[in-house]
This record gives sequence, C-alpha cells and structure tokens, in this order.
Amino acid sequence: MDRRFLCPQCGAYGLEIVKAMDLLPDNRSDDVILQIVECNSCSFKGLSLYEESRRGGMDSESWDHTGFCTTDTAVAEVAIFFSQCSALRDKRCGCEAHKKVVAATSRGKKWRLALLDQYGCEQTFIMTCR
Ligand SMILES: [Zn+2]
Ligand SMILES: [Zn+2]
Repeated sequence: MDRRFLCPQCGAYGLEIVKAMDLLPDNRSDDVILQIVECNSCSFKGLSLYEESRRGGMDSESWDHTGFCTTDTAVAEVAIFFSQCSALRDKRCGCEAHKKVVAATSRGKKWRLALLDQYGCEQTFIMTCR
C-alpha cells in the first residue's frame, strides 16, 4: 500500500491509497476494491476502483485500476462509510457500510461508481505507478 500513483491534477507521483474496502466480487471479477486516494504533492483527493479477474486460465489474468475525479463531498461520504466498518479488508463483511458501498458501486459492463451519478465525476484516469 505504499505505492505512489500519478496524480491527475499536478502530474507528480504523489497519489497514495489512504483507505480501501474490499467488496464481494460479482461473477466476472475475483477482487474488487474501492479506494480513497490522496496526493502528497497537491490537494487532490479522489476515489479509485481496483478490479482483478483470474478467470479462464493462467494467461488471462487481467486487472483494471481506474481513478475518479469527483467532489470532496463524494470522497468524504465514502470516508464516512469506511469509518463505520470494522473489517474493511473482509470482502464478506455484511455490515451496513459495506452494503451501502456495494449499492454505490453497481456495474454495467464493468464496475463503476454509481454514487458519482449523484456527485458528478469530472474525469476518470488510469492509476499509473512508476
Ligand atoms: Zn497532485
Ligand atoms: Zn463492513
């Protein structure tokens, strides 16, 4: 968790995952993790979603790590959900906060943050590390 990612706002590798919640995957993914990211070099805060699939044999492992630029209010709301759960890294945790986050991350073709329909999302970006 000490990896730094490219910040979409200042362009430095200052983006850190400060909190993460594992979610029960659907039938397409094996791991789905919602993360709060913050930049050490500027004031940027955002959300990111990590999705990994190990289906279909050894050569077909695939993952997707997408960042979302949104409002501080949306990030703060997710932070409140995270603070209400005592087992963030347990994807089978059935607490109210987990249920709310799962409801906020409905997927169509791929997982996406339905909660951003409410708050808006200026852009998405690929989480890139050095
Ligand atoms: Zn930055
Ligand atoms: Zn929970």
